[in-house]
Amino acid sequence: LSTNDSKNSTTHDKFLDGLLASGFDESTCLSRYQSHLYRKPSNHKPSPYLISKLRNYEEFHKRCGPNSRAYKISMQKITTPSSKTHHHHHHNDNVDAAKCKYLVWTPANGLGNRMISIAAAFLFAVLTDRVLLVRFEADMNGLFCEPFHGSTWILPKNSPFWNHENIETYQSVVLAKVDKARNLTLDQLLLPSVLFINLQHTKEDPEIFFHCDHNQEALKKVTVLIVQSDQYFVPSLFMTPSFSHDMNKMFPEKDAVFHHVGRYLFHPSNQAWGQISKFYDAYLAKADERIGLQIRVFRPTFTPQQAVMDLLLSCATSNKILPEVDTRNPAGTTASKVGRNNHTLKAVLVASLYPEYGENLRSMYLKGPTITGEVIRVYQPSHEEKQKFNDNVHNIKALVDMYLLSLCDVLVTSSLSTFGYVAQGFGGLKPWLLYGLVSNETHFPPCLRDLSPEPCYHFPPQHQCSGNPKEHFATSFPHIGYLNSRKLLEPVL
Ligand code: GDP
Repeated sequence: LSTNDSKNSTTHDKFLDGLLASGFDESTCLSRYQSHLYRKPSNHKPSPYLISKLRNYEEFHKRCGPNSRAYKISMQKITTPSSKTHHHHHHNDNVDAAKCKYLVWTPANGLGNRMISIAAAFLFAVLTDRVLLVRFEADMNGLFCEPFHGSTWILPKNSPFWNHENIETYQSVVLAKVDKARNLTLDQLLLPSVLFINLQHTKEDPEIFFHCDHNQEALKKVTVLIVQSDQYFVPSLFMTPSFSHDMNKMFPEKDAVFHHVGRYLFHPSNQAWGQISKFYDAYLAKADERIGLQIRVFRPTFTPQQAVMDLLLSCATSNKILPEVDTRNPAGTTASKVGRNNHTLKAVLVASLYPEYGENLRSMYLKGPTITGEVIRVYQPSHEEKQKFNDNVHNIKALVDMYLLSLCDVLVTSSLSTFGYVAQGFGGLKPWLLYGLVSNETHFPPCLRDLSPEPCYHFPPQHQCSGNPKEHFATSFPHIGYLNSRKLLEPVL
C-alpha cells in the first residue's frame, strides 16, 4: 500500500473523523496522515465535544506552552520566590501567565506503561486546564511526532523540573497534614506551587484519594504538578464527580477512550513509521487476514516456553484463530476437499522478546498443510531477548511491534501487559487474553475474550471518598470489564 493508493480516502478519513487537527507539515510526520491507509475505518467516532476540547487544548498549549511568553513568565514566577519579576513584563503578559498551569509527566517502566499513563495524564491536563509537558529523556528520542501544532510537549531542557528530589510530595502532604487531623479534606491546606504526585501502584502506599473532589479542589491551586505514573488511571477521572460530566460528554462510548486519545497523541516518527509501513507492505498487506500474537512472559525463568506455546496454541485453535496442522498428511496430497479450495492466506505477526515463539510457530506450519487448507505465514519483526532501559532503538522496536499488532484483524495478547493494551486500543480491537502463567501449569479455557479495547486499570481505588472501602468496583464501571480482566490477572499479581 502506498500513498498513491489512497483511492477511496477522503479528508474525513485522513483526519480520523476530526480527531486530528489540520495545519501540520505532513512531511515531518508522515504517519499522522498515512495511518488511515493502513487501518480499517474506526467503528468509533470522536464526539463533537471531544473534538472541540482538543482544538481548545491545542490553542491553550500554544499560548502557555514552551516558547510562549506566558511560559517564560510563569516559570520565572515559580523559580523566583518574590514578586520582583513583575515589573519586567507588561500587565497583559502577567494576566496570561497567571492562567497557565502545568502537568509534568514523568516516566516509569516500559513503553506500554508510559503510553497509557501519558494518555491518562493528557486527559487529566485537559480536565484541569493544565499544559501537558512530558519528561522525555534520550530513550524516548525519535519515537513520536509532536502532537500539538505550533508548540512542543517536551519539557524544555532548561526546566528546573527534570528532577523532583527536593519537591514536596502529595503523599507526604496527605500523610502529614490530613491523616493526623483524621480528616480527609485537603482543600483548606496551603499547597506549594510545585507538587509531585506519585500515581504509581505500590503495595505500601496509602490510598491517596486522587479520585475525590476535595483533593482535586486542593490540587487546582498548584501551578506545576509533577505526576509519575505507569497506570491507566482514566477510570479515576470518570469517578471524580467534578470531572465526570466532562468525561461523559467527551466520551459517550466509554470503551473507546484510549482508542481516541492514543490515536490523537501518538504518531510514530518518520523513522518508526518507515519500519512499520515497510514491514506491513512487505508481509501483512497481501494477507486475507492478519493475526497478531503478543507473547509477554513476565517470569521467563519460571515459565517454560513449551507451557506458553501450548497455552497459545490451545487458545488460537479452540477459537478458530489459527488452524491445526494436518499431521496425518504431511505432504498435503490428500488434504480435505474443504481445504483444497480454501486458499485463505493468514499472516501471523508475532511480537515477543524471544525468537523461539515465532520460530516454533513457523516450523509448525512448515510440517504440513493445515486442516482447513488455509495458508499460514509467520513473521516476527524483532526479538530483543530482554527489556532494555535507556535505549531508544529498543523502544522504537517496541513501538513498531505495538503498532503492527494494532493493524491486525484479530489479536491474542498476554494478560496484564500494557504493551498489548496499546495495540488493542489503537486498533479498537477486543483481544483474546491469554491466562497469565505462574509456572508450568495449564488452564482451560486458555484465554478469554476481552470485553473492550480499553486498557485495564490494574489498581483502581479501593475506597470511597468517605474513606469507606469500595466493595464492588465493577458497579462503578460496568462498561470497563474489570472483573473479566481481573480474573485473568490474579495469578500474576
Ligand atoms: P508490559 O510490561 O508488558 O506492561 O509492557 P511495557 O511496554 O510497559 O514494558 C515492556 C517492555 O519490554 C517494552 O516496552 C519493550 O521494551 C519490551 N518488550 C516486551 N515485549 C516486547 C515485544 O514483544 N516486542 C518488543 N520489541 N519489545 C518488547
